[in-house]
Amino acid sequence: MTHNDELFARAQTAMPGGVNSPVRAFGSVGGTPRFFVSARGPYVTDADGREYVDLVASWGPAILGHAHPEVVAAVQDAAARGLSFGASTPAETELAEQITSRVGAVERVRLVSTGTEATMTAVRLARGFTGRDLVVKFSGHYHGHSDGLLAQAGSGLATLALPGSAGVPEAVAAQTVVIPYNDPDALAEVFAQHPGRIAAVITEAAAANMGVVSPHRGFNALLARTCHDNGALLILDEVLTGFRLGAAGLWGLQVAAGEVYSPDLFTFGKVVGGGLPVAAVAGRAEVMEMLAPLGPVYQAGTLSGNPVAVAAGLATLRLADAAVYARLDRAADELSTAVEDALAREGVAHVIQRAGNLFSVFWGEDVAAGVSDYETAVRQESFRYRAFFHAMLDAGVSLPPSAFEAWFLTAAHDDAALERIIAALPTAARAAAAA
Ligand code: PMP
Repeated sequence: MTHNDELFARAQTAMPGGVNSPVRAFGSVGGTPRFFVSARGPYVTDADGREYVDLVASWGPAILGHAHPEVVAAVQDAAARGLSFGASTPAETELAEQITSRVGAVERVRLVSTGTEATMTAVRLARGFTGRDLVVKFSGHYHGHSDGLLAQAGSGLATLALPGSAGVPEAVAAQTVVIPYNDPDALAEVFAQHPGRIAAVITEAAAANMGVVSPHRGFNALLARTCHDNGALLILDEVLTGFRLGAAGLWGLQVAAGEVYSPDLFTFGKVVGGGLPVAAVAGRAEVMEMLAPLGPVYQAGTLSGNPVAVAAGLATLRLADAAVYARLDRAADELSTAVEDALAREGVAHVIQRAGNLFSVFWGEDVAAGVSDYETAVRQESFRYRAFFHAMLDAGVSLPPSAFEAWFLTAAHDDAALERIIAALPTAARAAAAA
């Protein structure tokens, strides 16, 4: 029995499934989850003292690599000055200004602690602003675990093949209309069916919780146009993509590529907190100023804008410059090409899909022509990923424990780290082929 095995057995007697977030339990890949004790740069170390090259990056936040010395110093400095005041701090405004200066369509920001809170607040704001109740979401998109947004969500629900969650009142679920992604006809139809009743469409900027599925060119702009023509708001969920794919997230990449549109609200998380709990809802002033204390839409948080967490986010965003994004893009090019080559050499049917520096592999003939919606994504051969995942883990590479999650690189993935991953690929590709 390894130390990891012992820790997992003990954890399961203290916590449901032994975890505090479902996908961590390795349910879909099998085996014992690794308990990590430390992390530095592109590496994580488990309780048995084994080091892995990390391709999870805390599910996104660790864009600079783990424990970046300047981020750690900023956190230590903030902690030494007090862990929490429950009052305003100068650094909160600085972080909000970082966000508004990077994302042109954002005029006001409210900091919260998790992506779930950010999307939940965005939906409440949209309802308060429009005086309408219905929210449209796309199947396979994940926006956190608030009641109204769990219907046909991706992430752990995709991993566990669940359509939604028990415990969500029917009356609440009925306020969410789920439609297929990348489907302009379904979009037109939902607005035709519910005239004057839709408060908002919420969409992942690029879907990355059912594997990586980009919006077709023009789709996000179509969402904005359709919402605005019908008196609804567009909520662009950049919790995962924001400040990771570029200085202004996926929206920034699209605008730079000539696809100009204006979401009314954005949600951010992950990178914006640099590994500590910070997230944000942000957008145009007219909508954001509906929030209390200015307006009638209530939202609050004891630890919102926590000084230690804000210090981590601020230090991370200050360091995330053009050179960091260029390195992430280069690393994604190199790694996705190497995975492509290794799988092709073994004749494993697959498709690799990218959104900026994020990518994931879909497995099997049924999906090899490309995936643009959830219905197709769930047809992949997840069992091949299970074999691939464990071969990589045995070789010292920690991948996301689900075929439906993106692979996350960091700017600390240097040549040595990438070479270790690439060296492990031939054996893992053979395991996937034999599965
Ligand atoms: N939105 C998106 C797009 C996400 O990827 C996630 C988390 N993976 C969330 C919202 C929820 O964020 P959190 O886990 O911080 O609540």
